[in-house]
Parts: sequence; C-alpha cells; structure tokens
Amino acid sequence: MTVQPSPADPAATRVLVLNSGSSSVKYQLLDMADHSRLAVGLVERIGEETSRLAHTPSGEGERRERTGPIPDHEAALKAVAEELAADGLGLDSPELAAIGHRVVHGGKWFTEPTVIDDAVLKEIERLVPVAPLHNPANLTGIRTAQALNPGLPQVAVFDTTFHTTMPEHAARYAIDVRTADDHRIRRYGFHGTSHAYVSRETAKLLGKDPSEVNVIVLHLGNGASASAVEGGRCVDTSMGLTPLEGLVMGTRSGDIDPAVVFHLGRVAGMSADEVDELLNKKSGLVGLCGDNDMREIRRRVEEGDEAAKLAFDIYTHRLKKYIGAYYAVLGRVDAVVFTAGVGENSAPVREAAVAGLEELGLAVDSDRNAARDGGPRLISPDYARVAVAVVPTDEELEIAQQTYALVNAPAA
Ligand code: ADP
Repeated sequence: MTVQPSPADPAATRVLVLNSGSSSVKYQLLDMADHSRLAVGLVERIGEETSRLAHTPSGEGERRERTGPIPDHEAALKAVAEELAADGLGLDSPELAAIGHRVVHGGKWFTEPTVIDDAVLKEIERLVPVAPLHNPANLTGIRTAQALNPGLPQVAVFDTTFHTTMPEHAARYAIDVRTADDHRIRRYGFHGTSHAYVSRETAKLLGKDPSEVNVIVLHLGNGASASAVEGGRCVDTSMGLTPLEGLVMGTRSGDIDPAVVFHLGRVAGMSADEVDELLNKKSGLVGLCGDNDMREIRRRVEEGDEAAKLAFDIYTHRLKKYIGAYYAVLGRVDAVVFTAGVGENSAPVREAAVAGLEELGLAVDSDRNAARDGGPRLISPDYARVAVAVVPTDEELEIAQQTYALVNAPAA
C-alpha cells in the first residue's frame, strides 16, 4: 500500500496541513526546520451565502477575513491558495515539500501515513460507507489540492492509523463474525494523531522513552475519546466503528445499550436516520442540559443548576469508568493524561475524573490542577504513584511531521 515518492528537495521544509470537513477547511502551513507556523486559517460555512475565510499569517502580518459565498471546496481551496500566495507562500513555492491531509477513516489497512495515488484514493472511497460524514469531504479536499498543484506530493494521515495496533480481542465486537467481516464492522478508533502525539509528549514529560511507559490518554474536545497506550502502541480505544462510541461528548451519547435504537424504532416510530441524528447531534452534554461548552456548564453548576450538574456528573462518571477499565487493560500505568479543549482547560473535569482513585495511585494536587499554564505539566502531587498530566495536543504538527518524514524517507 505504501508508495514512496522521490526524496524531497532538502530546501523544501514546509508542509501545508489540510483538514477538510463537510462544510469547512482548516489549514496550517508549518516550517519543519523549526516547527514554526507560517500561516493558520479556516474557511467555514462552505456552500452557504455567509461563508467566511479567516487567515492569520505569522509574525507581524495582520489577520485577514473574507466573507461572502464560497460555493464549494474547490473555491475554498483556491481562496486559501490565494491568501497564501499573497504572503509569498503559494502552493507553487519551491519551499513547499508536500500537503498533508487529515483523513478520518483509513480502515484497518492504512497502518501508516501514505502518499496518495489513484489506488489510495480508491481505497479511501471504498471506506465511505463506514465514514459517510467525513471521508467524502476529505476526498474532495485531496482532489482539489491535487488539481491546484499536480506535481506536489500529497500525503494522507489517518485518524485510525494509531489504533491499528489494537489486538483482535479489543478491536472485534462480539457479534457474528461473518456479518462483521462482510460489512467491515469492527472498532477502528479515531483522534489517532492526537493520541499518538500526546502519548509521546507524555513520555517526554516523564523523561522516558515512549517504549518504556504505559499511558491512558483522555482526548476531551467536542468529540472525546480515551486510549490505552502500552509502550507507545495503542492497545485499546473508546471510539469504535464510528466516532459515536465511548465517552460522553458535546453532542454524542457515547456508549449506549444498542437496544435503545430498536426501542426508539418500535415505540417512537423513529427511522434509522432520525436515531442517528439523535445520538450524534442531540445527545451528550447538549442532550442532557442544552449546552455543550464545558465553560458554560460549569458556570451553571456554580449557580446550582441541577440539569448542568447531572450532565457534568454523567460526563465525569463515564471518564472515571474508562480510566478504571484501561488501568485494568494495561496492568501498570505510568500516567493518565488530559488533552484537547476540555482536557487542557477544565480543572473541575480533571479533578472529578480521578476523585476517589487514590487506591490506584491516582490523585490531583488542587493548586497544580488550578494553575493556568499552556505547556505540558504534571498536576499530581509528588507522592503519587501514577503521574496525572495535562499535555496540549497538536494534531497539525503531528500530521506535518508524519507527512514530512514520509516525503523525505529514502526510497525503498
Ligand atoms: P474540537 O477540536 O473537537 O472541536 P476542542 O478540542 O477545541 O474541540 O474543544 C472544544 C471544547 O473545549 C469546547 O466545546 C469547550 O467545551 C471546551 N473548552 C474550551 N475552552 C475551555 C475552558 N477554558 N474551560 C473549559 N472548557 C473549555
């Protein structure tokens, strides 16, 4: 499956990272010589009248904004290319080594980042039935970028790759094997670039090699997932066939008895699409209390709001269950690490998730937990047997690093 490009020009040290969603494109241009960001931007509401492109160049450059209709991804990427070119960073610049694309679903076949050719595009397309919301947008992004600069290496970095090391007993559901195989039903896991990056950075924080440490990573953003990482390899993760399974999220239910789906069909007359929408968009924190922003939920909790308190308690109870489960899976744990929007910023969530786990060697120091510090840091007391840490994630840097390493790898 791996196609090796010819080694890139050593002067080409820049990588453009593209994350194409169904109605948005996020991008960052990084210089791999020093990991600096040369430009960061976002196009949102593609296909609507009120599309918006926000572009921030590095250094002294002013943030620029375009508003007005951007009909499709092709127009969006063209606008991004124009903004980059205006700063002398165009897609045709010789310093650009490659474009790294975030691709959500790589199935179990893409076990590493991959240079994109026609066969790879076909395979990503074959995975559309298991990732109907994400892979089509990723494909459009890739095809448009290819058309804009056909000679430039384009690399797919998959959310699922880090989890392809999961053993079969963690990846398989206990359902009829033939049915599962016929329809590619298994646990794939997502947020892989974040789990990979954060588990490695946690080892660094502990002064150890990733191969020496066992880490439980809690990626808590709008989407949320946990993973058990043994010696640098993922051995279990909470998301499954789709990003719906596992933790309570902003709008997704996470784990639920599958019979709820049949029950809603029978007693509420809901169609499969309606239940899909309910569990993905109207559940989780939003379903429980009407808000999905943890800041707002905490504000309401402080005011004595019962619904917000229950939502917070359900969220942190689920987190605690996963910490316990992955502790058991790993046997020995060196660190529990929190990352992404909620994980990096919400001290109350971190405190509640590990409360009462002292017997497992887990504790949080309240001053360290409350300290506002942007970098990787320990929040456990010095005496704790297991480190509890906050490590900011950086999925764009991870994608850029993997892309750059691949295009600079010596030909096989
Ligand atoms: P995603 O990339 O999945 O969209 P993020 O990792 O950016 O999400 O996380 C977004 C979420 O982080 C917000 O919905 C909010 O709940 C939470 N968040 C952001 N800042 C804070 C904060 N200061 N305190 C608590 N929660 C926060």
